[in-house]
Amino acid sequence: MPPQPLTDVQLAAQDAVNEVRAAAAKWASLPIASRVAKMREACQLILARADELAELATLETHKPLAESYSAEVLGVADLFSYWCDRGPALLAPRKGHVPSLEMPGKKATIERLPRGVIGVISPWNFPVSLPMRTLVPALLAGNGVVLKPSECTPQTGAWLVERLRSALGPIVQMLPGAGEAGAALIEAKPDMIVFTGSTRTGRRVAVACAERGIPCELELGGKDCAVVLEGADLERTAAGVAWGILMNAGQNCSGIERVAVQATIAPAFLPSLVAAMERAAPDVCELVTPMQKELVIGHIRDALARGAKLETGGLPDSGGPLRPTLLTGVPRDAPAWADESFGPTAVLEICETDEDCITAANDTRYGLGASVWCRDLNRARSVADRLRSGMVWINNHSFTGALPDLPWVGVGESGTGVTNSPEALMHLTRPRLVVVDSTSAIEPWWYPYGTAMIDLMRTLVARQQSGGLGALLGTLSALKKRNRELAGKG
Ligand code: NDP
Repeated sequence: MPPQPLTDVQLAAQDAVNEVRAAAAKWASLPIASRVAKMREACQLILARADELAELATLETHKPLAESYSAEVLGVADLFSYWCDRGPALLAPRKGHVPSLEMPGKKATIERLPRGVIGVISPWNFPVSLPMRTLVPALLAGNGVVLKPSECTPQTGAWLVERLRSALGPIVQMLPGAGEAGAALIEAKPDMIVFTGSTRTGRRVAVACAERGIPCELELGGKDCAVVLEGADLERTAAGVAWGILMNAGQNCSGIERVAVQATIAPAFLPSLVAAMERAAPDVCELVTPMQKELVIGHIRDALARGAKLETGGLPDSGGPLRPTLLTGVPRDAPAWADESFGPTAVLEICETDEDCITAANDTRYGLGASVWCRDLNRARSVADRLRSGMVWINNHSFTGALPDLPWVGVGESGTGVTNSPEALMHLTRPRLVVVDSTSAIEPWWYPYGTAMIDLMRTLVARQQSGGLGALLGTLSALKKRNRELAGKG
């Protein structure tokens, strides 16, 4: 079949990647101190109009303005200052160890180089904080970035890219459009993809990247569980769990969607949680997409049809907003338990023992976050240690997403990606090894081989088994013989 002409979006993606690649090469050659200075400028440009950014995030996502400040805008300054302060040391070259006896005169250095162009594909739920937590370290490290924001939040994406370009030049570019723009970005072959979004799309992204040999980081969905044990501070735990369920109307990858509570405290905890959720209702916004709302309604409807009990909330009046909803008695194979809901809803299961709570919490194919609530910190810690999740919080939940030093990471179907923390910077750069050899001798492992070479290898193996002076002297003597052999005098 003859090659198909490129579509407009594919052409736009190629142009974006090419433009950014050319600009990023110059950016990467600047001394790190100059990049730091420019990044600090970019931060000031954003902060000078922080109110505008918060209002834009609220306009596009409906989230309360308070949440646009707390979960989106506030973290921006921390991101820039963390990476500008810590980045230079983390990116500095390090010396590598080369054994001086067998391989004398060699110096190894491991440098951290930018990958080139990073394609960042972002969802709509946190249109500022999610892309920025990759953009800031990626740019500081000398990369360029093409950002594909969600089609639901294009203005916020464009606003951020415009401010960054004002300070940094064309090393950042936005690729507007829906899913096909994300696919086109991968086809344009950037040097890495950082994808945040659903597990379903993440799988397609992983395949598309693998086919093109592009490394990708995947931050995917979640189904976090809060484990509430005897000895929990019930009022505080109810307030914290309600926030974990309802923040951003539950459109949070590490939102609490399941609660495992110990039977002895369930009669007291359940009404406290219901009351906390009902108190929070005025601050819970409408969901961003009608499709997502239909999915959540489907989960509630299905659970009720299977005999679940509604503790609060329920199916919305026609056209009305989704209310904070808590269900009990939901079977584990129901979508409300098994699938990501991504709305202001949770299911609560009553468990007898710590062991039962652990089994319930781990009964998921996701593994992003989990929390354990109990004043006995030793007991909480021993339960936390057995939860299968990338992050576990004791007596809190999920608030660490905006803290740049702490990794945001999952296991299982929550993906393999790491954002935030020095670990993320290691993915956004590639290690390059440089070795300088200042000796003039023929190496003992070079041709021609001979019996002294085999003796030397045996001596080295023996030295690995038992060190000490005898082994050292044996190695020196074997090396001498091998050098004589190489010189034709063996
Ligand atoms: P999607 O997976 O639907 O979309 C994510 C991004 O991928 C969007 O920009 C989307 O474009 C784009 N996209 C869609 N199809 C393709 C494709 N074939 N190739 C490349 N890109 C594509 O997720 P949502 O936007 O619905 O976000 C919600 C999901 O994100 C939830 O599952 C949530 O758990 C997860 N998430 C995970 C986080 C984490 O850190 N683990 C953090 C936040 C959210 P468009 O939207 O324009 O169609």
